[in-house]
Amino acid sequence: MKQGFPVVLTADRTLMSEYNGGIFLGFSACIPRGLIPDSVYFSLFCPSVKADKNGVVEVAPYGTRKIEAALLENGFSREEVIVAHPDRLDRVIGPKTKVIGITENDPLGIGPATSTFTQIFGGEAYMAVKFRELLRHPSIRRFKPKIIVGGPGAWQLENEELRRELGIDCVVIGEGEKVAPSLFEKALNGEELPGVVYGETASIEDIPTIKGAAVDGLVEVARGCGRGCRFCVPTLQLYRCLPIDRILKEVEVNIKAGRNPILHAEDVLRYGAKGIEVNREAVINLFKAVKGYPGVERVGISHFALASVASAPEVIEEISDILGIDEKNWFSGQTGIETGSPELIEKLMRGKCKPFTPEEWPEVVLRAFEILSENNWVPCATLILGLPGEKERDLEATVDLIEELRPFKSLIVPLFLVATGGLKGKAESFGLEEMGQRHSEVFLKCWEHNLDWGPTLIKEWTERNIRNPIARHGVKLILSYAIKQGRRLIDRCKKEYYYDLKAMIEDLKSERVKTMPVTTRFLYRLLS
Ligand code: SF4
Repeated sequence: MKQGFPVVLTADRTLMSEYNGGIFLGFSACIPRGLIPDSVYFSLFCPSVKADKNGVVEVAPYGTRKIEAALLENGFSREEVIVAHPDRLDRVIGPKTKVIGITENDPLGIGPATSTFTQIFGGEAYMAVKFRELLRHPSIRRFKPKIIVGGPGAWQLENEELRRELGIDCVVIGEGEKVAPSLFEKALNGEELPGVVYGETASIEDIPTIKGAAVDGLVEVARGCGRGCRFCVPTLQLYRCLPIDRILKEVEVNIKAGRNPILHAEDVLRYGAKGIEVNREAVINLFKAVKGYPGVERVGISHFALASVASAPEVIEEISDILGIDEKNWFSGQTGIETGSPELIEKLMRGKCKPFTPEEWPEVVLRAFEILSENNWVPCATLILGLPGEKERDLEATVDLIEELRPFKSLIVPLFLVATGGLKGKAESFGLEEMGQRHSEVFLKCWEHNLDWGPTLIKEWTERNIRNPIARHGVKLILSYAIKQGRRLIDRCKKEYYYDLKAMIEDLKSERVKTMPVTTRFLYRLLS
């Protein structure tokens, strides 16, 4: 369309991928550019979603779909609003384009996962690189539509000078559905936009149903958390659950596009709960309704809480039965361990362990891992380094806990604290500079755990999810190589650097490419 669409919604290229059906491989966008050649990364790990000849995407990030739905339900017509691929903006932006809405998870690459990876490997994360590239798209520069950025990473763009530098007109921090229609209306009318808008909490009635399919079939079943961890943003939101009929409408939208649903909430197991206790009936009804929906073959989940698992093992068993989970078809989701220290739990995240006590936390984590393993669930857990007030004994407790978790098929990803949520302005973020020997020990223990389970997980996951044999083989080959290198580096850190990870990283950064074998260097250059 030469004249362009008045409203164009998009996201950076790293969010316009389904990561071969492995939603958590989206983590890979947090790794710095340059570790593997771009051509390999974007074809094997982060293949693009499909777009038609006009640039319209087949599936889009869930947040983008919500804003699209909010606009369409509030007076905007289908002809006015388009969800487009970031590489095809030339086909949708023209003189008639007044505003572009961008969804972002981590626009500056300073979120917990990204800052951990970039501080260790150096360089800039793909997400940040692609966000800047998007803002500099020739069509945006030529036709100068107003730029509105929202999404989980919008908080990073609160600074006025930074926004001006990047050419962003407005940032929406928090929930976007209620404020988006009037902001986009203003932009269409050529009115000045406020630099920062803090989104209003949408009631269940105000949350629109998506009109187009979401990446990996995501469907939100609840919003907010309420457990109250001080470093966390979702805890600041009111806890709400969507009714099952509304959830099924979104399942249908996704199924029509051939996507099986992934249920999203901060703790899917607390669906329908009035307080902290798992509401068995509500959760089981949810899974039965979604699995029984015509066309649904598989159901996935995004996040769950270990305390919910430990407090309701029978629910895990029932869900596994409903979904037909077994050793070959294991089930996964993201969860938070954060620390093995009851003292830190007491101080910073008292709600995380409920209905148990902070003293019981290590036992709760261990018991939850056991239950998950018995039911063929494979948790992908996070752990936080640098929590405020953290002491040696807290880190020792975490090391002990990770050791106990070794027998369970899982991933444990250590992340540096980023002082957001209730800690914003009250605590310092953690970085490589602050990394002591005990931090290194926790970090290496986690990665030893992951590298031990890596070969099994890679084999099982790629065989199930990547149909193209060449792509499957390629991903396997690269990940196996990464595991080998990872083991070598862990060994080196222990034996040559006596757990001084910071010193080893500094040395490696100065000779990074040189540490690769000659054949790898040759291939890297060839593919770059
Ligand atoms: S349990 Fe998870 S989502 Fe809830 S407040 Fe804590 S970290 Fe945030």
